[in-house]
Formats: sequence, C-alpha cells, structure tokens
Amino acid sequence: MLCFPAGRLYLPQTNNMAEELEHVKCLIIGSGPAGYTAAIYAARADLKPVMITGMQMGGQLTQTTDVENFPGYPGGVMGPEMMEDFRKQAERFGTDIRFGYVSAVDFSGPIHKVIVDDTKTILADTVIISTGASAKYLGLESEQKYNGFGVSACAVCDGFFFKNQDVAIVGAGDTAAEEATYLAKLCNKVYMLVRRDEFRASKAMVHRVLNTPNIEILYNTEAKEILGDEKAVTGVRVFNNQTNEEKDIPVTGFFVAIGHKPNTDIFAGWLDMDDTGYLITNPDSTSTKVPGVFVSGDAQDKVFRQAITAAGTGCMAALEAERYLAAKEYQ
Ligand code: NDP
Repeated sequence: MLCFPAGRLYLPQTNNMAEELEHVKCLIIGSGPAGYTAAIYAARADLKPVMITGMQMGGQLTQTTDVENFPGYPGGVMGPEMMEDFRKQAERFGTDIRFGYVSAVDFSGPIHKVIVDDTKTILADTVIISTGASAKYLGLESEQKYNGFGVSACAVCDGFFFKNQDVAIVGAGDTAAEEATYLAKLCNKVYMLVRRDEFRASKAMVHRVLNTPNIEILYNTEAKEILGDEKAVTGVRVFNNQTNEEKDIPVTGFFVAIGHKPNTDIFAGWLDMDDTGYLITNPDSTSTKVPGVFVSGDAQDKVFRQAITAAGTGCMAALEAERYLAAKEYQ
C-alpha cells in the first residue's frame, strides 16, 4: 500500500475546521532544463508531477539567444525556443504546469508542505527543487540593453560567437579566470577588468591567466558603460577607480563573471547549504537530508552550470523520487 495516497487530504486546523488541501506525489519547483527534465521522467513514471514554474518560466535560457552546445540541435536553437520544446515534451506526458512561485516550504513532516503565491498550500510526497541560480550583473542600464546582443554571463555558452574578435570580461574570481582563459582560446584578445589590484581567484587559476599572452589585465578598472550601435555591442567605457581616468575599449563581446546567486532563500533552515547558498546534496545523489526532497540543476551546482548538466541532474532527481516512493510503498 502506498503510504502517502495522492489526491485530497483533510488536515485538522487549529479552529477545528477542516481545510481541503491538494496532495500530490511529486511537486517540481522551477522550470529550467532541470525542472522540465525531472518532469518528463516523473510523468513517464506515472508520478503525475505538478510543476510550479517560478516567475521566469523557462529559467535562465529564456534570456539567451543562440544555444549551440545542447545535443540534439545540430543547427543550434534559440534559448526561449528550446525551453518551449522542453515544456511541450513535459506536457506531452501529462505534467501539470502551473505559473506561480513558491513562497515558503515546510519540510518538518513526512509529507512536505509547499506554499504557492503566498496563499495556496500543496502537500507533496516528494519535492524536486530546480530553482536554478541567477547570474549577477553589474546593474548598468546599457548592460541590460545589450544582454543577449553582445553581453553575456556565460563564456562557455556564448564565447564561440566571438571567435577571432576582441572581448572584455569583468570579474576576478575563479569563474572569471576560467572563462577568460576559455575565451582567450577562441578570441583575438581578452581584456580582463579587475576592480581591485589583485585577484580573488586561486593561485593556480591566476597563474593560467597571467601566462595567457592574449589576456590583458586592467587592474583597478571598472566598467562604466557598455557601448553599442543599438543592435550590438561595440565597446566598453571603463574607468580607473584610483585615477578616475576613462577610456573606451573597442570590443564586440562583454562577459560578466562576477558570481551567481542560487535561488534558494526559501529553503534556509530546512536544507543544508554552503555559505553562498548552494544546496548540499548527499554524495552521488540529488537527495538531501530531508527524505523525499531532491535538488537538481544550478541550485546545487556551482561548478558546471550548464543546461545539459542541469538536465542530467533533473533526470537523476526524478528517478530518485520514483525509487523513494516505491520503497515507501513496501514499508
Ligand atoms: P566569486 O564570488 O568567487 O568572485 C566574484 C568576483 O567578481 C570577485 O573577484 C569580485 O571582486 C568580482 N566582482 C563582484 N562584483 C563586482 C562588480 N560589481 N564589479 C566588478 N567586479 C565584481 O565568484 P565566482 O563565480 O568566481 O566563484 C564562485 C565560487 O565557485 C568560488 O568559491 C569559486 O572558487 C568556485 N569556482 C570554482 C571553480 C573551479 O574550481 N574550477 C570554477 C568556478 C568557480 P572582488 O574580488 O573585488 O570582490
């Protein structure tokens, strides 16, 4: 017998009134590659998943243009179009996709409570978290204007479009160092804008940057404005924060690598996370310290952060949710 029968459950309330709550087998939070892949697997396993999309349906990829590194699209695909394909595939197997955001969770009991849009409570036997992460941006108006048209927060995704061209990258951590050396292999020249007079990145990564001849490091330098011709980036206006000297550097690509913020605030106190907010899963698994709660995608991955790796962990989470429910059935 299944321990947690899906359907309707009547919970006694403090005022002795009974409130009818929706009860699902599998609730997926987030609609990026991880969430949709989890949905496809969960729906095909008859877990009848309900997905709460989040406010940016489709996730980070809806903000990019061409995606050329996702297998199965030999000619490349636009990010929003790809996420539409993911959505259709998840719906084809019966995923119940609902636009909304999860405002709070309660993982204190064997049945998990998920509050949607501050108002509606859903009970779930399993929860798959795929809330992703958001790249941090400088906050310049011009950066927003040219996002996807020369401004990018992912060198691995978009570096190829700037082959043999001059680009700039801002940041001085491990991501920036790694992405600068990645870009240096493709691009003619990489200007690295470092706001202090030293790197934050590890010594080994800094060593690689310093030994790459086509990377020029501009210390104490910050971007003031991304320059463009209304269609695409044509340069960046920078200033030296010690001397206030300004100059324009002609580049066609501007990469932002100043860190990511995982969208995990609502899980604080319920799940383990590292000091930057990435959720911690058990080794070789998407499971967490709370039985029945799984995490996939960028919410738990600060190293790879690719659509394909997110999709892979989405698949893992759904398979683990299915096994968890099957094991409960025979307890
Ligand atoms: P970090 O937070 O480590 O670094 C962010 C960098 O961006 C810092 O150099 C910071 O400057 C700079 N920065 C922040 N805001 C601004 C701004 N407004 N203008 C200019 N510069 C800014 O983020 P990362 O993404 O690099 O790394 C995150 C974590 O992931 C780290 O623990 C890192 O070690 C790890 N990581 C590991 C990798 C690996 O092992 N291969 C690869 C990538 C990441 P400042 O130093 O002045 O604060």
